Amino acid sequence: MAAYAYETHDYDVVVVGAGGAGLRATLGMAEQGLRTACVTKVFPTRSHTVAAQGGIAASLGNMGPDSWQWHMYDTVKGSDWLGDTDAMEYLAREAPKAVYELEHYGVPFSRTEEGKIYQRPFGGHTTEFGEGPPVQRTCAAADRTGHAILHTLYGQSLKQKAEFFIEYFALDLIITDGRCTGVVAWKLDDGTMHVFNAKMVVLATGGYGRAYFSATSAHTCTGDGGGMVARAGLPLQDMEFVQFHPTGIYGSGCLITEGARGEGGYLTNSEGERFMERYAPTYKDLASRDVVSRCMTIEIREGRGVGEHKDHIHLHLDHLPPETLHERLPGISESARIFAGVDVTREPIPVLPTVHYNMGGIPTNYWGEVLNPQPGNPDAIFPGLMAVGEAGCASVHGANRLGSNSLIDLVVFGRAAAIRAGQVVNPAERTAPVNKPAVDAILGRFDRFRYADGGVPTAELRLEMQRTMQADAAVFRTDKTLAEGVEKMTAVAGKIDDLKVTDRSLIWNSDLMETLELANLMPNALATIVAAEARKESRGAHAHEDYPNRDDVNWRVHSIAHVEGVKVTLSTRPVHLDPLTTEAEGGIEMKKIAPKARVY
Ligand SMILES: Cc1cc2nc3c(=O)[nH]c(=O)nc-3n(C[C@H](O)[C@H](O)[C@H](O)COP(=O)(O)OP(=O)(O)OC[C@H]3O[C@@H](n4cnc5c(N)ncnc54)[C@H](O)[C@@H]3O)c2cc1C
Repeated sequence: MAAYAYETHDYDVVVVGAGGAGLRATLGMAEQGLRTACVTKVFPTRSHTVAAQGGIAASLGNMGPDSWQWHMYDTVKGSDWLGDTDAMEYLAREAPKAVYELEHYGVPFSRTEEGKIYQRPFGGHTTEFGEGPPVQRTCAAADRTGHAILHTLYGQSLKQKAEFFIEYFALDLIITDGRCTGVVAWKLDDGTMHVFNAKMVVLATGGYGRAYFSATSAHTCTGDGGGMVARAGLPLQDMEFVQFHPTGIYGSGCLITEGARGEGGYLTNSEGERFMERYAPTYKDLASRDVVSRCMTIEIREGRGVGEHKDHIHLHLDHLPPETLHERLPGISESARIFAGVDVTREPIPVLPTVHYNMGGIPTNYWGEVLNPQPGNPDAIFPGLMAVGEAGCASVHGANRLGSNSLIDLVVFGRAAAIRAGQVVNPAERTAPVNKPAVDAILGRFDRFRYADGGVPTAELRLEMQRTMQADAAVFRTDKTLAEGVEKMTAVAGKIDDLKVTDRSLIWNSDLMETLELANLMPNALATIVAAEARKESRGAHAHEDYPNRDDVNWRVHSIAHVEGVKVTLSTRPVHLDPLTTEAEGGIEMKKIAPKARVY
C-alpha cells in the first residue's frame, strides 16, 4: 500500500454535498455560528439541483385558495400511504416559510401581475383533500427554479462564512465507538488527502439515478452517500421505489419538465388520441407521475406508440401561445431543439418514461437524523450523522414523489437539520481526536481501487449494471424479471473485486473517481432490486404485475436493506401513522388520512 499523508481539519459540522439540500443545511448551520465546512465533488452550482426546471411546492395560495392541509393530503396520497405522516405534515406546514425565506435570500421568482410569487399547476396537487379542482401550488422562477435557488444559497452561505472545499471527493465516513466523527476526502486537483473531524456530518449527496441506463439525472448522481452508509453497516430504506418521469426526451433522457403539462401541454399516441383522458378522467395529463408513466408504457405495449419503432409518445406544446413558451418555458424549448431537433411551436416532442428520482435512501426522522433501527426501537438514532435531500428518506415521498415536492424537501429538511444541529452540537466542546485506524482502513480501500488490476474495465461493469437495472427493475415488474434481475445484479456486483483501473495517478484521475462512484452505485442498485423482488404488492412507483393491488395489511411498511458486499439482508420498519397535531387550523380540520384507492 502506498503511504498517504493527510491534512486534518476540525469543524463543528461537515456537510457533504452542495446541491439544494447541502447548501440550505450549510447556510442554516453557519447562520447559527457553527463552524461549518461544505465538501463537494463538483462546483456547488453544478450540482444536479441546477437542472430542476418546474418549481417548488408550497401552499402560498397566490393563485387561488390553498392550505398546508391540502398539500399534506396530496403528499400522503401521492406517497401511496407509505410516507411517514409526521414528516409529511412537517413538510407541508413548513413549506411556505421555507419559500418566503428563499425569496428574502434573493431567489428571483417569476411574478404575478400583483407582484406575488407565480405558481403553476403540477401533477397530483389538488384542492379540498383531492375532491376539488387542481391547484396552482408550484412556485417557479421560469423553468430555471433549481438554478436560481442554488446560486442564491451559495452566495448566502459565503456571506455567512461557511467554508467550501470544492472538488473534494468524500471517500468514507469515520466511525468511532458507534458514532460518526468525520469524513475522509480526496482532493481531486492535487491528489492530497484530507481528514475532516466533525461533531456532526450531514450527507447531502443526492440520488443514484445513474444506476440505470437512461436517466434524467446528472452523471454525478451516483449515490455516494448511500454507498458510504452501507459500508458503515447502516441500512438503506424503501429502495425499490424509483420514479420514472413521463417525459424524458426519447434517446437522450434529457428532461422536459412536468411544468410543460402544467402550462397546458398534453400527450398523444400514434392515433393522435389524448389517451390520458381515458385513464385519469379528472386530472388527465396532470395525474401523478407513476400513473402517467404506466399509461404511456401500456400505450406503447399495445402497439400505439409513435415513431418508426412505435416505441415512444408525443408531447404537444404546439397549441400554446408563443408568449407562454417564451416566458414560462424558455429552457425546454431550447432542450427540445438541441436534443430532439424539434421546434416546439410546430411539432410534438418525442418522449419516454425515464428514471428521474429515488424515493428511497438513508432513513432519517424529520430532523434529518439518521436512523439505525434496533429490535424494539425502530427509530433509534445513529449519533453524529444526518442525511438530507434526495440522499435521505424522511420519508415524505413514500412510494412516489409528487412533482415539485423534492425542491421543497431540500430546503425544509436542510433547514430542519440546521435547527436540530443548533440544539445538539456544542461549539464549546473539543472535537474528538482523529481515529487513525479508521482513517487507515479508508485509505487502504482507496489504495486497493487505485491499484486494481483485474479483468473488467470500470466502464464495462457500469454498463452491465445499468442495462440490468433498466431491463429488470423497470416501470412494470414481474416475479420473473425481478428474480432474474436479482441473480444478474448479484453476479454484476461480485465483479467489483475484479475491476481494472488503468490510471494510477492521484491528480484529475477520472478513471479512479468513476471506479469509486461505481462502487457506490452498486449497493444502491443491489438494494433496489432485492427489495423490489421481495415486495409482493403494487404501490406507487412499484408496479408489480403479479400483484397488481396495494396490500396495506402486509406491506404498509418501510423496507430496510443492509448491504454487505453482494449480500442484502432485508427487514422492515413501521410507517409513522400519526400526524404531529390533529387540531383544526385556519378553519380546516385535519383528519387522519386513511388509505384508499389512489385514483386521479
Ligand atoms: C432534470 C431534473 C429536473 C428536476 N426538476 C425538479 C423540479 O422542478 N422540482 C422538484 O421539486 N424536483 C425536481 N427534480 C428533483 C430534484 O431536483 C432533486 O431531487 C434534487 O435537486 C436533489 O438535490 P440534492 O441537494 O439532494 O442533491 P444534488 O443537487 O444532486 O447535489 C448532490 C451534491 O452532492 C455532492 N456529492 C455527491 N457525492 C459526493 C462525494 N462523494 N463527495 C463530495 N461531494 C459529493 C455533489 O458534488 C453535489 O454538490 C429534478 C431532477 C432532475 C434530475
